[in-house]
Amino acid sequence: MIIPFNKRLSKNEEEHLIAICNEFKVEIQPIVGAHRTIYAMLGDERDALLIKKVEGLPFVERIDRIESIYKLMAIDSDLKNHKIIIGDKELGKDFMCIAGQCTIDPNNKNYFLETSQGVKESGADVIRGGVWKPRTSPHSFQGSLKSLDILIEAKELTGLPVDTEVMNTEQVKLCVDAGVDMLQVGARNALNYELLKSIGEAIAGTKTIVLLKRSIHIGKIDEFLSAAEYIAAMGNPNILLCPRGTLPTVDGFRNHPDESITLLLKQKTWAPVVVDPSHSVGKAIYVPRACLAAAAYGADGICVETHINPEKGIGDDPKQSITPEILKKVISDCRSIYKVQKNY
Ligand code: PEP
Ligand code: MN
Repeated sequence: MIIPFNKRLSKNEEEHLIAICNEFKVEIQPIVGAHRTIYAMLGDERDALLIKKVEGLPFVERIDRIESIYKLMAIDSDLKNHKIIIGDKELGKDFMCIAGQCTIDPNNKNYFLETSQGVKESGADVIRGGVWKPRTSPHSFQGSLKSLDILIEAKELTGLPVDTEVMNTEQVKLCVDAGVDMLQVGARNALNYELLKSIGEAIAGTKTIVLLKRSIHIGKIDEFLSAAEYIAAMGNPNILLCPRGTLPTVDGFRNHPDESITLLLKQKTWAPVVVDPSHSVGKAIYVPRACLAAAAYGADGICVETHINPEKGIGDDPKQSITPEILKKVISDCRSIYKVQKNY
């Protein structure tokens, strides 16, 4: 819907607008109100160039879109019945938990193996472990390729699928070749379209799943879904959307908690939502209740940093990892809440 600045367009302005839209096979239907006239666009109004041309007209104030800019991720798309299966669980039916260390310490692999065993016993469905880490300081630990072997060892030990973050095409290839089941796109790379395309390409025709985090800087919902569209467009729509808190933050929390956007995502997309409370509230004592809140908002799962002995961890683990004992209670309570919230 095109909203002009003035109450009525002149004849020349109207003809100019119609000519541009017709170039893109879009018809214009004026809607004449008592006080002003607005213009409906009839046809496929998703072409980005068309939108820019119309927005650039000096007499147009704005365009209010009715159709979303993403086609595959939209709630009513052909993918609306797409099922994502993890182990014996179907996302959307059963509450799912991804848990494990923020960072795999390549020099202390036993911690990761014990954590993995611990999260399995707590009822987690997927083991997470950071091999490469996006760190604010270049002087902090950046990860190690050795950790990829440790991640795969944990997969063999527990029989559970594994998840790790990838930041470039080479890491994507290494992970796919090694048998990593879930590729995480982090909040700093969530809008790196070249990376999203290369992930889409690498996983096309496979069962690999992508955990796509919401961009760290506000990350508008349509932008979030369009990022997912980049992956889905390459042929594999096994995508989990992961709100993880955004900047700017409120006092005290690491990021601004955003599990409530689950409600909005559920109105716009068929894709399952898996909330990461660890990086939003950012402190272990806050994490359990934030997990319960995610389940209450209807999230289909959580991704929780967990460590067998957080004080001995590296990366975010000493600060925000919970223990497998606490995780067990959290998973059980989230499953109950998830069932109950379905009544609303
Ligand atoms: C992580 O999962 O450890 C991580 C770095 O996440 P995010 O991209 O959400 O900061
Ligand atoms: Mn982390």
